[in-house]
Amino acid sequence: MAQPKITRVTLATLPTPLESGGKLQSGANLWVKRDDLTGLGVGGNKARKLEFLCGEALDNDAICLVTVGAAQSNHCRMTAAAGARLNLATHLVLSGAKPKRLEGNQMLAAMFGAQLHHTGFEANDWKNLETARAELTKDLIRDGQRPHSIPIGGSTAVGAIGYAVAFDEIIAQCETQKFVADAIVFTTSSGGTHAGLIAGLVRARAKDPQKVLPKVIGIGVAKGFALSAESVAELANETLALLGETLRATPDDVIIDPSYMGSDYAVPTQAATEATTWAAHRGAWVLDPVYSAKGFSGLLGHDAQGEFATDSNIIFIHTGGLPSLFVTH
Ligand SMILES: *Cc1c(COP(=O)(O)O)cnc(C)c1O
Repeated sequence: MAQPKITRVTLATLPTPLESGGKLQSGANLWVKRDDLTGLGVGGNKARKLEFLCGEALDNDAICLVTVGAAQSNHCRMTAAAGARLNLATHLVLSGAKPKRLEGNQMLAAMFGAQLHHTGFEANDWKNLETARAELTKDLIRDGQRPHSIPIGGSTAVGAIGYAVAFDEIIAQCETQKFVADAIVFTTSSGGTHAGLIAGLVRARAKDPQKVLPKVIGIGVAKGFALSAESVAELANETLALLGETLRATPDDVIIDPSYMGSDYAVPTQAATEATTWAAHRGAWVLDPVYSAKGFSGLLGHDAQGEFATDSNIIFIHTGGLPSLFVTH
C-alpha cells in the first residue's frame, strides 16, 4: 500500500527548549520541555498537531477551518491563530453561553479573527458539542465554504503525527544534552498528544531495540474522553499507519493516571495549586489550572511515591495553557 500523503505547514517555532529543572525530592533530575513556547498564537501543544491538520486542510482545498472545544479551549484559540496565519476563516464551536466580555482564550481567538459559536452546552458534554460541530460543518459545505472540520483537541491520527515527531525531537535533544530520559510525563485529555508520543516510542523501539527509551506517562484531566489505554493505542496505531509503519502499539504501552484530575475537568485541585507554586518558584514556569498544573502535580506525586530513582531523568512536557490564567469568571 502506498504511504498516504502527509503535508506539514510551518506554524510552530521548533525545536522548543528542553530546560534543566534541578532536582526533584527523590533526587531525580527534572527537565522541562517547553511546548508552551511553540510560538503559534501564544503557544501550546496544539501547534504541533495543527502543522499537520492544516497541511491536510490545504491538501483538501479547504477555505475555512471548523473546530470545537470547551469555552476556554486552547486548541480552539490556536486553531484560530493557524487560520490567521494561513488566511483561512475559522469557526469555533464552544461550550457555555456567550460571556458579557471575552476573556483569555476567547479574547485571543476573536482577536485572531475567528467566529465564535457559543452553544450553551456544558464543557463535558462532548457528544452535543461534536454534534454542533457536525451541523455547522454541514451548513458551511452547503454554503460552498469548503470547511476542514477538526474534532475536539485536534486528536486525529493526522494531528498526532505532530507528537510522533516531537518524540524524536526530545530524544535527539537528550542526546545533545548528554542524558538518557527515563520518563516523559505530560497532561492528557483528548489523547492526541499521548497517541503521537506512543507512536514515536514504538517506532524508536523498533529502530533500536537495545536503546533505553523513556516510559511515557499521561496524567489524565478529562473524564470519559479518550481516557482509555485501548483508544489511545488505537489512535497511535492509526498514526503509525499514516507514517507508513507496520509496527503496532498495544494498550500495555499506554499509561494513563487519572488520579490527579480531582472531581472533574477544569475543577481545581489542591495538588495542582501546590504544583503551580512549586513550578513558579523553581523555574518561573507558568502552569495553568485546567491542564499543565494537574499534569505537573502528577509528576510530583509519582516522584513522592518513589517511582523515580535518584539521578534518573524525568521530562515534563509543558503543554501550555497560559491564557486561561487570565480568566476572571
Ligand atoms: C489540549 C491540551 C492538553 C492535552 O492534549 P491532548 O492531546 O488533547 O490530550 C494538555 N495541555 C494543554 C495546555 C492543552 O491545551
